[in-house]
Amino acid sequence: MSTRPLPNGPTVKGPEQWFTGDVYFNAYYAGQEPSRTRLNLVRFAPGAHTAWHAHAVGQTLHVTEGLGYVQSRGEDVIVLRPGDTVHTPAGEWHWHGATADQFMCHLALWEAPDPAGGQPETTWGEKLGEDEYPAAPGEG
Ligand code: MN
Repeated sequence: MSTRPLPNGPTVKGPEQWFTGDVYFNAYYAGQEPSRTRLNLVRFAPGAHTAWHAHAVGQTLHVTEGLGYVQSRGEDVIVLRPGDTVHTPAGEWHWHGATADQFMCHLALWEAPDPAGGQPETTWGEKLGEDEYPAAPGEG
């Protein structure tokens, strides 16, 4: 093994059961054991956002473009702007996505849990209710 470029895979549409609206991602890196690192670029169209979910080993987002939101269950909505980096701890339920009137793109960095534990990387829950997503542009 040596330093080498990695192939660019296809841009993939985010599945409807996990995302509201149009979301596309590129999986740039998925480490092989002993690395369990994953790196994706995720692009959210205006109004698009994830369902509630939790990452077994947490997740760090770095915003590259646009305007968006991230919110942990029971906490205030945080507005995301280009250059912002936010961390969600292991097992914490949260969602992220674009504002109602802007695109938002972020890098998503996370790790898979120890495969011996049989735990999924990400546990998906319900989609956001009408009253949960901030409908007003830039609100939050
Ligand atoms: Mn997440």
